[in-house]
Amino acid sequence: MQEKGTISIHTENIFPIIKKFLYSDTEIFLRELVSNAVDATQKIKRLASLGQYNGELGDLRVEIAFDEKAKTITISDNGLGMTAEEIKKYINQIAFSGATEFVEKFKEAKDANEIIGRFGLGFYSAFMVADKVEIETLSYQDGAEPAHWTCDGSTEFEITEGTLAERGTEITLHINAESEEFLSKHRLQEILDKYCRFLPVPIVFGKKTESVEDGVDEEGKPKYNDVEVDNVINNTSPIWTKAPSELKDEDYLAFYKELYPFSEDPLFWIHLNVDYPFNLTGVLYFPKLKKDFEIQRNKIKLFSRQVFITDEVKDIVPEFLMLLHGVIDSPDIPLNVSRSFLQADSNVKKINSYITKKVADKLAELFKNDRKGYEEKWTDIGLFVKYGMVSEDKFYDKAKDFVLLTNTAKENFTLTEYKDKVAPVQTDKDGQLVYIYTNDPSKQDAFIQSANKKGYDVLLMDSPIDTHFISHLEQKLEKTSLKRVDADVADKLIKKDDAPEHVLTEEQGTKVKAIFDKAINRPAYKVELESLNPDELPVTVTMDEFMRRMKDMAAMGGGMGFYGNMPDNYKVVINGNHKLVSRILQDENEEVQLQLAKQAFDLALLSQGLLTGAELTEFVNRSVNLI
Ligand code: ADP
Repeated sequence: MQEKGTISIHTENIFPIIKKFLYSDTEIFLRELVSNAVDATQKIKRLASLGQYNGELGDLRVEIAFDEKAKTITISDNGLGMTAEEIKKYINQIAFSGATEFVEKFKEAKDANEIIGRFGLGFYSAFMVADKVEIETLSYQDGAEPAHWTCDGSTEFEITEGTLAERGTEITLHINAESEEFLSKHRLQEILDKYCRFLPVPIVFGKKTESVEDGVDEEGKPKYNDVEVDNVINNTSPIWTKAPSELKDEDYLAFYKELYPFSEDPLFWIHLNVDYPFNLTGVLYFPKLKKDFEIQRNKIKLFSRQVFITDEVKDIVPEFLMLLHGVIDSPDIPLNVSRSFLQADSNVKKINSYITKKVADKLAELFKNDRKGYEEKWTDIGLFVKYGMVSEDKFYDKAKDFVLLTNTAKENFTLTEYKDKVAPVQTDKDGQLVYIYTNDPSKQDAFIQSANKKGYDVLLMDSPIDTHFISHLEQKLEKTSLKRVDADVADKLIKKDDAPEHVLTEEQGTKVKAIFDKAINRPAYKVELESLNPDELPVTVTMDEFMRRMKDMAAMGGGMGFYGNMPDNYKVVINGNHKLVSRILQDENEEVQLQLAKQAFDLALLSQGLLTGAELTEFVNRSVNLI
């Protein structure tokens, strides 16, 4: 038997195209060929279970070997094999809907994955790295003859009688000059580790020897013999393929270590398992985030029937869940189509909301069953929960019941608990609730103490997400606003009707203001006289909440835009009811008045870390003189 023919595609030069445009991703040839081999073993297993194959199944496996001298890589399996007819049908007629369409589309394709999956070119990816490809195969079917197929990368192929004596397929790649990097144990091992680590049948790469006990020697000590054992490189039943009831915590933790050997143990995990309306399994872990969440991203691995596809899951997993680690396996995610298509895909949308819901449910459960443990983990979870609330409305709706607010005394409250706690004292004269927060407790200590003195609670909002979280809370919570503790003097943070009386006359007030204007004399500092509690500080420097927030936002967006370019503007609040102010007024010496005003102003700056450089030196010298 010998037959020559032409691979039936309508475009002559498909291989140069494959080679040229798929070059950057050439390593996936191995994934494609190994996946085909695995599929072949799964198919024979299925045929056997359906009673359509009655022979021995044997140990189903896929073997990869290479020969540096002959410059070949061989992938063999004991799957269902192919008859010559099947080769013609499956291999020769490239299984895509039309080569013409392919040639038109390849220009837009961004990577090899896109082309290969879309056009069913799995097998042909071999030609990215090989000048010539050979298939030796023997079908499982009764009376099947072994067949041999060879093709040199042109559209010409040749089918002859084959040599295989056992069921299965052996594919030999004659590696081309540009691809010799793949003729290395190290390189092949690396690719196999990446794509084949969790395939469902044993993947054997090369051979290794091992010593086994074989009786005893003359002295009665155990005797060892060297035997060849297979070097199976994969874990054929990773935990996401098992039922949660079969698994213990140790199994989840061990699997986490297997995936991320250098990471700390995760906080907890979720086992995903759906088969309707889409098929998806996986395990998602909550890592210890701390505050550096950027480096934690892109750790979720996406699989399709245990074949690794990518760790770029950006369009499949909601943005805020990108902080999670773990694996997702779904044959229903269209892996090989363009990004924009993926975002519009209804399965992807369903998967998105399924995962979001599972994550929210898990957090709700932890909160409900073990509030103490939940609070202990809050530093890590909090960042994630807030991120989720800010970015996904559906998540907000669930998380509003388990998000925690932490105050400067390190006490945690749910939103409702906090509202109940502060409403009696922190409601202003218009019925608006005011939550007070600090983003830097040490710098804002003086303000925090003043606020606490008034009976106000101060929330700690010092994580990178908090700026956004605060604005979001304001939008969501009814009649509630948030103010940073240094946005105003404590007496003015929450507008009430009980403002203390002025002790100064209007004339005295104008005079005081003039003295401070002259003493401070800096355009960024606007002096205002207020009648505050006599035991509040004589001078306080504040920055308006709105202005500051706009600047913070602009800074986060790279410091651009209108607000980013505004200079800092501060308000200098003079407490007209403070003894020092009366003292300044009464002094007859103008020089002393100015000195005292300046001293009080510098103290206000000092308490906020705003006094630096030459001004600090001047302050120290003046203080020494005054003493
Ligand atoms: P796809 O896998 O997307 O169908 P391929 O080009 O990779 O496209 O393979 C085409 C067909 O060739 C497969 O569907 C299968 O029927 C057959 N085939 C490929 N490799 C093997 C193998 N190792 N054993 C048996 N059949 C195979």
